[in-house]
Amino acid sequence: MLQLYQPLNFMGMVYRDIKQAIVDIEAMFAILGQNPEIDDLPGAQALRVTAGDVRFEDVEFAYDSERPILRGISFEARPGQTIALVGPSGAGKSTISRLLFRFYEPTGGRILIDGQDIRQVTQTSLRAAIGMVPQDTVLFNDSILYNIRYGREGASDADVDTAAENAQIDAFIRSLPHGYDAAVGERGLKLSGGEKQRVAIARTMLKAPPILVLDEATSALDTFTEREIQSALERVSRGRTTIVIAHRLSTVVDADEILVLDKGVIVERGTHDALIERGGVYAALWSRQREADAAEETLQRAGYRD
Ligand code: ATP
Repeated sequence: MLQLYQPLNFMGMVYRDIKQAIVDIEAMFAILGQNPEIDDLPGAQALRVTAGDVRFEDVEFAYDSERPILRGISFEARPGQTIALVGPSGAGKSTISRLLFRFYEPTGGRILIDGQDIRQVTQTSLRAAIGMVPQDTVLFNDSILYNIRYGREGASDADVDTAAENAQIDAFIRSLPHGYDAAVGERGLKLSGGEKQRVAIARTMLKAPPILVLDEATSALDTFTEREIQSALERVSRGRTTIVIAHRLSTVVDADEILVLDKGVIVERGTHDALIERGGVYAALWSRQREADAAEETLQRAGYRD
């Protein structure tokens, strides 16, 4: 998201213009996105999502041919399952989500959704099938109503309200002087990281995609906000195939499979319990995170944190 955000700062004008023309946030990624060379193949068909099965088969990728980033990534997220990607910064977690959106093409292997190679389908249909809750949501300089309804243009006020309720941001909105009409974004009210993420969750609830990518915030949220966001994320991912890029291990405990990535390779995989039992990389990350969390809670309790 950072890559998207930075150009936006420089491209205020362009951004406002295209804002009118685009129908969803992933299309914005595509327009400002990193690789305009990716086109639909001649005769590409629309993706037909029947169940929401996502498969990576021996996927290889390099942004630049000198430096491989993903090496032989294989996994399957079955319909409704949650797969968590964990691992150190730079391991390739976000790259996996970029390939799923087809912002880049794998240099080897393939990615299938319900048996269809994503190279063979139209990009519009691919991006319509996948929802993204990014780390840092870009808000439009418009009302909070507009910002949530963006998930599905034409959604009724009641649907927007239900989405906001499920994302646990409705009470916050009602507390604003102008409620849903409050202006947000650069030229309006500045929302906190946790509030922005809940707007993104509400948007995604309206979009109701069969496949979801959650990119967790890296920044430390206070324990209360984190729990609220966690429960909103659980609601949005229920019944959808979900890939979580997890920075905080507390959110991956219930994942159907955790993939531990290091330097573009899956070095461990399994459920939380199995990986703890194994006593390897994941178990070490887990105990380190527990210690960091305990220290953070002590600071919060002592009043050094909000
Ligand atoms: P983090 O937890 O910090 O978000 P990550 O595991 O998601 O990290 P990626 O963003 O997938 O890591 O990046 C993997 C590697 O690819 C990094 O070494 C990064 O420098 C490199 N990389 C990412 N984007 C690009 C790009 N557009 N061009 C060239 N290299 C890139």
